[in-house]
Amino acid sequence: TRFGAQISGDDFISLAERGGLSQISIYASRPYESLFSGNIIQICPVGALTSVDYRFQARPFDLVSTTSTCENCASGCELRIDHRHFQVKRRLAGNDPEVNEEWNCDKGRFGFYYGRQDDRLTHPLVRRGDELVPASWPEAIDAAVAGLQAAGSSVGVLVGGRLTLENAFAYSRFARAVVGTNSIDFRARPYGADEASFLAAHVVGQSVADAVTYADLEHAKKVVLVGFEPEDESPIVFLRLRKAWRQNSTAITAIAPFLSNGSAKMGATLLPTPPGHEVEALNGLADQLDAETIVLVGERASLVPGLLAAVAKLSARDVRWAWIPRRAGELAALEAGCLPGLLPGGRLVSDARARVDLQAAWGAAHLPEDAGLDAQAILQAADSGKLKALIAAGVDLDDMVHPAEARDSLMSNVFVVSLEQRRSSVTRAADVVFPVALLEEQNGTFINWEHRVRPVRAVNTRASNVMTDVRVLAALADAMGADLGMRSPAHAKAALDEISDWEGARAQFTASAGGAELTDSAEGVLLASWRTALDDSRCLDGAETLKRTAPGAVARISPATAAGLGVSSGDALTLVNGGAEVTLPAAVTAGMVDGVVWAPMNVGVSLLATLQARPGDRVRLVADHSAGGVA
Ligand code: SF4
Repeated sequence: TRFGAQISGDDFISLAERGGLSQISIYASRPYESLFSGNIIQICPVGALTSVDYRFQARPFDLVSTTSTCENCASGCELRIDHRHFQVKRRLAGNDPEVNEEWNCDKGRFGFYYGRQDDRLTHPLVRRGDELVPASWPEAIDAAVAGLQAAGSSVGVLVGGRLTLENAFAYSRFARAVVGTNSIDFRARPYGADEASFLAAHVVGQSVADAVTYADLEHAKKVVLVGFEPEDESPIVFLRLRKAWRQNSTAITAIAPFLSNGSAKMGATLLPTPPGHEVEALNGLADQLDAETIVLVGERASLVPGLLAAVAKLSARDVRWAWIPRRAGELAALEAGCLPGLLPGGRLVSDARARVDLQAAWGAAHLPEDAGLDAQAILQAADSGKLKALIAAGVDLDDMVHPAEARDSLMSNVFVVSLEQRRSSVTRAADVVFPVALLEEQNGTFINWEHRVRPVRAVNTRASNVMTDVRVLAALADAMGADLGMRSPAHAKAALDEISDWEGARAQFTASAGGAELTDSAEGVLLASWRTALDDSRCLDGAETLKRTAPGAVARISPATAAGLGVSSGDALTLVNGGAEVTLPAAVTAGMVDGVVWAPMNVGVSLLATLQARPGDRVRLVADHSAGGVA
């Protein structure tokens, strides 16, 4: 029970009674709610605490263990994955003192059932009229090649955040050397205009030797959080920050609209900030930021005009900072060159020397020189007919900034090839679907937020009809008369290692003109939101016990905003954006910024898909008994 009190800060589990009557109890009036509860099971010295999912599934001595890396966020936790009869039975926290120490979060521990749902793809599919019908691998390869060759280089490639470094590299090389396009993007999520330039100039090419690390966080004097909620968006970062605060008195400042439960457990000081005003807040801290400060900036920061530029300027004052994406595969995709203007290893598409260097390494006659399209432009071009074909992997359209428009784009005349583990909104629109391996079925590499290489090892080695993304792309390249230069994740890693050193030109950060992303209407309130750790993400499908522990969705507002509407906690509050609306129970939150409403991005309802709004947008609030919104 000391884990709850000391490590995670969730202390509503305790030892009750004395001596021989001692027993583990929870509080009668307060439930024990923790994102880290599985650690208590793992370290229970007598095995009295067990998990609902694993109980009676296997005896420990029947299990085969594999050390691997969690795929559910960019923390990069080591896992011990136990399987029996080719099925994963449980996942435990691995012991890696430099990363997750000996802990993990419940999302990583219990969120591994998504690959055994009824929608798992086990054979290729080819479109015949309105139907996707099962096909053999040769039939599917032929159909895909016919569509891709008809499109020429008018092809876009969208890769989501699930890919290992090896798979991401295969897509990057396939796009450039086989198809001849620079229109490739890993950002299947909302992003701002500055982000690609920021990542190319300041993030790609770092190694764990020069980046901020967990150890740096633990010993920092000051940490500032901006656009980043550690407990939800990178839970092991949260545990390390809490340790830093408890053991080393690290002063943590959260630039956010309210003090979250996670921030409170880290002893953080709130700098109350409405969404969209983080730049002023960060600049206002200028006097306090020094070489002993680390600024942690989340991927949401790019939605705030000027914020990434403000972060980049911190380096000039010796302030260290780290960009922390949410998904496990984002930094690997970046290093692999899955951005339109960026080739593997931080080479620039616009640099002729870099292109020649890769042409020689890849034995390619020519690499495309055009700037390429980013994710949003790819979908727009598909919709308008300018793009003839699209290759998509690991993309959930509900994560895109305009899910309905993304769906329309795929349903247009564009030829869609989908490489996917499960049926999805993309496969439904696809012309050819290839089933690809789950993470537990392949070897590979992730790169965590520290830029630390994290090994992925195959757990389930039973022969099946699915292949890795690398191998499918190699087969497509063969059929198109080209050579991908790799046939397996091991080949891909070796090929990438060969070209990883690049001494040539690097990108310079170019800030775009600010202000475009935020609506400037004074009506309504500002929407604040982020993705909570346990939400409706497809990676949690099948983890029903875990999902029952997820906090329910609420609409947080300040006491003054609530008073203006005449609502109390628990009253129904409707968020209105044009003709779209979402109704949630209100949660009146002390200390919150006035004129702001916060709701989780994807719990029960998707704000992107249903409300069609993103953080920083203005929405109207309507209480059930209220005639109007907040002025
Ligand atoms: S913190 Fe992230 S990487 Fe670690 S177990 Fe949780 S979801 Fe997985």
